Amino acid sequence: MKTIGLIGGMSWESSAEYYRVINQDMKARLGGHRNARSVMVTVCFEEIKALQHEQRWDELASRMKDAALQVQAAGADVVLLCTNTMHRVAPAVEAELEIPFLHIVDPTAQALRDAGIDRVGLLGTAFTMEQDFYRGRMQDRHGIEVVVPKAPERALVHQIIYDELCHGIVRDASRVEYQRIIAGMEAQGVGGVILGCTEIAMLIGPDDVALPVFDTTTLHAQAAVTWALA
Ligand code: GLU
Repeated sequence: MKTIGLIGGMSWESSAEYYRVINQDMKARLGGHRNARSVMVTVCFEEIKALQHEQRWDELASRMKDAALQVQAAGADVVLLCTNTMHRVAPAVEAELEIPFLHIVDPTAQALRDAGIDRVGLLGTAFTMEQDFYRGRMQDRHGIEVVVPKAPERALVHQIIYDELCHGIVRDASRVEYQRIIAGMEAQGVGGVILGCTEIAMLIGPDDVALPVFDTTTLHAQAAVTWALA
């Protein structure tokens, strides 16, 4: 079994979920007390969040590279960046590493393709929904068209992520808003919705909406387990 390396803390609420899914999935596959071998480096989200909102992507790339090198030095065989948003700087991180980097878009796209979906709705931070790094990879590498909510709804989705979910706060009223926004994308003919922020599964699950949901945390974590056993 190879060692899974995790860059966590963005937020720690979702890093804990990665840790849980990776170990549960490994145990389900191998049985007994066979948890995954892993290392995690946790960054300070307060600092990262401030840099994101100042759009200081070069500094963020440098922070993520440092964390990835720490993970590599700790003995990891692969690196996962446990946040969709920070994949904005994934190319810079990947270029720094001697070990593979498992991009969060790729297992998500694979699950969509397996489900026969080529047009999908995306919920995530404003950075993920509005910039090209995420939608571009979905479209160009995987041939999947991505639909995002309208501007006021994107702002609400973003605010709920940072002000509630990243603090571990789960509110019914916010779930209702997300359900309304997902229904709006469904009306635009999407075949599923990507939970493209690693905290959203705390709020929305398959039972909350009619569309199939694709939780990036679970898909990314399970892909790491598959990789560790290959
Ligand atoms: N965890 C979130 C994501 O997947 C947002 C936190 C962050 O900005 O990194 O995008």
